[in-house]
Amino acid sequence: MKLVFLGPPGAGKGTIAALAREHYRIPHISTGELFRAHIKGHTPLGLEVEAILGRGDLVPDDITVEMVRTRLCEADARSGFILDGFPRTIAQADALDQMVRLDKVVNFVLDEEVIIARLSGRRVCPVTGKIYHLTNNPPKIDGVDDETGEPLIQRDDDRPEAIHNRLEVYQRQTFPLIEYYRTRSLVVDIDASPTPPEVFASLEVVLGR
Ligand code: ADP
Repeated sequence: MKLVFLGPPGAGKGTIAALAREHYRIPHISTGELFRAHIKGHTPLGLEVEAILGRGDLVPDDITVEMVRTRLCEADARSGFILDGFPRTIAQADALDQMVRLDKVVNFVLDEEVIIARLSGRRVCPVTGKIYHLTNNPPKIDGVDDETGEPLIQRDDDRPEAIHNRLEVYQRQTFPLIEYYRTRSLVVDIDASPTPPEVFASLEVVLGR
């Protein structure tokens, strides 16, 4: 199954993709995570994109498309994948169109107030990438990861100024993709407001078990 997860930042795409990856046994390819791994590893690409991510701006299309092309060539992605956070522009969608034939585009639908509340309360484990929320999904012990005991951190781009910018970038650059894929009859909408298991259950309904 070749899937794209589309929707505003904070809609829970990453959380649901982690569940779907286990269930459907296909890799979860998150461009945000790939970039963050480069930043953490101090690679040349990481150095190039660090400030861009910190501001909540988009990495240039050519860089992003090449990174995705390389990842999709890996063996595990041959029979299926979940692309999370890509494409984010029409140019990226056109490039993806040349690479693969998608089965479905899952559009996560969520109101702006809920998005802001989710993003500002999000905390992550810097080692495993596990995602928590201060009120919706707190760790067992305040401020530390349940498994590793590492202090949780807030992503730079989850700070208020960057959140505002990401939402604007989403509206301007990524939102038009919903229409782009609707005209190709690929879009299924799911309500992203309930809890992760409930959202996952509605995903199973639209994708099949
Ligand atoms: P979220 O969906 O929560 O905004 P991501 O982890 O998907 O966060 O992405 C974080 C950041 O990585 C983006 O704000 C952007 O700077 C960069 N990024 C991720 N995917 C893309 C993409 N397809 N094109 C350009 N930049 C991207």
